[in-house]
Amino acid sequence: MTKEIRNATKHEFKAEMKQLLHLLIHSLYTHPEVFLRELISNSSDALNKIRFKKLTDANILDSDAGLRIKIEIDKENQTFSVADNGIGMNYEDLTNKLGTVASSGTVEFLQNLQKDGKKIDGDMIGQFGVGFYSLFMVTDAVVVETRASEKDSTGYRWTSNGEESFEIEEVEGLGRGTKISFKLKDEYKEFSEDWKVKSTLKKYSNFIDFPVFIGEEEANTVGALWHKKKADIKSEEYDEFYKFISGDFNPPMGSIHLEIEGNVNFKAVLFIPEKAPEQLLSQDQGKTLDLYVNRVFIQDDNKEILPDYLKFIRGVVDTEDLPLNVSREVTQSSPAMRRIKNILVGKILTWLKEISTEKPDDYNIFYKNFGPLFKLGSTSDYENKDKIMPLLRFESTRTKPQEYTDLDTYLERMKEGQEEIYFVSGPTRSQAESNPNLEYFLKNEFEVLLLSDPSDVFTVPYLMEYKGKKFTAIDKAEIKDEEENKSKDDKKLDKEASASLIGVFKEILGEKTEDVLESSRLVDSPVTLVSGKNSMDSHMEKMMAMMDKNFTGAKKVLEVNTSHPLIKNLSAKYTKNGNNIDLRQAIESLYDSALLIEGNLENPNALIKKMYEYMQKATS
Ligand code: ADP
Repeated sequence: MTKEIRNATKHEFKAEMKQLLHLLIHSLYTHPEVFLRELISNSSDALNKIRFKKLTDANILDSDAGLRIKIEIDKENQTFSVADNGIGMNYEDLTNKLGTVASSGTVEFLQNLQKDGKKIDGDMIGQFGVGFYSLFMVTDAVVVETRASEKDSTGYRWTSNGEESFEIEEVEGLGRGTKISFKLKDEYKEFSEDWKVKSTLKKYSNFIDFPVFIGEEEANTVGALWHKKKADIKSEEYDEFYKFISGDFNPPMGSIHLEIEGNVNFKAVLFIPEKAPEQLLSQDQGKTLDLYVNRVFIQDDNKEILPDYLKFIRGVVDTEDLPLNVSREVTQSSPAMRRIKNILVGKILTWLKEISTEKPDDYNIFYKNFGPLFKLGSTSDYENKDKIMPLLRFESTRTKPQEYTDLDTYLERMKEGQEEIYFVSGPTRSQAESNPNLEYFLKNEFEVLLLSDPSDVFTVPYLMEYKGKKFTAIDKAEIKDEEENKSKDDKKLDKEASASLIGVFKEILGEKTEDVLESSRLVDSPVTLVSGKNSMDSHMEKMMAMMDKNFTGAKKVLEVNTSHPLIKNLSAKYTKNGNNIDLRQAIESLYDSALLIEGNLENPNALIKKMYEYMQKATS
């Protein structure tokens, strides 16, 4: 029985659509290749819908056919077509869904862009929810042949030259699904070439969950790995996938596969690279996460899914809870996106915690590579501070070079009565270690964190405390004059001699220091500089000065070790002659040497000159 075929009917586009089409046909584009992504993603949607319908509905046309997308190209005639055997469209779909602009304001926005004489970004067309019409970037006329999925459905041909109107006529002999055909404009004829189509597919649609054929050949898409069951994925597959998305030649250090259902739904496969990129701390240090919506690629290097300090993570996030044509602005502000972000951060921190306990060696490698970035989270992500702090690592006076301690271990090792977590900073570990202010702590076996990574210097002072113990720079720590020091008292200058010598120091150094005090922290050095109560430690000051040319640090307190033989000699000399020129010179040299050790002596030459003089005297 043959059905009567209805004549073609002509439909005017609505006014706004006409304007849009006019623009699409007469503008210049960046990323015109986006049309392919849009067509493939529409086909993929249609295939997803039929896949779902087949579960519950027996009345389906071509029910046994394997779901697939077929691309036909003809280089000679510059033609292109995409066909799917998805859900198809009926008459109403063709007039309503295919013929309207989804979001108002789209046309105005594009018109303004064009007025400014700018090229229109093809990606925007997709983002405005008019994906299908993006193909008017690359063609002047389109034919859509489609048939809905019911066994008794009618097939239609929809045609339009994208100007005033479209026509719909019935056609016989179509199978289920939709085929979209057109001739490419001359300037875009390369899309009828095999390599161009393949590379565009690879870029935008590589993880589409249905086979894509170009002619008879199946384009080797990777498929949506993250949608497979975890148990079915071999570790090599994760490695290959990592290499593919990251461009890294090495396998990742670790990976996790998340399947989140509930408040927000998403799947993610995340990787920690084995090596850090050259520019770990710079703004554009490479790709981070790729965002997919329902297996359709939306954005690579999405800057919003993860906070800055976790940007070393590579991988893919795929959610059902964002619209497909999501714009960057929407990604930032959408509640779904915020939920995804919160969950991801929590999962990543738990993952790192697991690595740190189960594979401490791996964790150390991770920390060496990414610690400088990661630790910034301890001061920037207040909500997760409690999870981040135990993951921090430090070199200390109890670790070998390049080995770490964590804060909990530090707390366990704290001496009875120790109330603070001590740290000292320096440009290198060995310079931090040779700080004279350490002497007291070493002698009394207090562990001190040795900070030489610039990120430490900027984070640790702001950590405030861990489990009730304050972080304190050793040159600001209060030193308790305990039993230990009592015995030393015997060797010290007596009170009177000490007070008058300190007086001479003050007189000679004048405005240079905030104060001069008798030291109880020094063991082997005669003098040291320490920070006043309200100032930063010296390394921190230097970092500040590097960032701000006008920065001047606060004055320091000079501490004098009155049990040191050199200081005792000076005292003896002073009782004989208070105005002794050698005494004056010696005090100035001592001050300069304390500055030198701190790394803050502006002109070392003068000190060296004095040193030669001393040597000359000593050897004469
Ligand atoms: P969007 O995909 O954002 O809805 P489009 O302009 O790309 O916007 O598509 C409009 C509508 O046309 C789709 O929502 C869908 O209903 C229909 N459509 C487009 N392509 C196909 C296809 N290959 N199969 C079935 N329906 C399609």
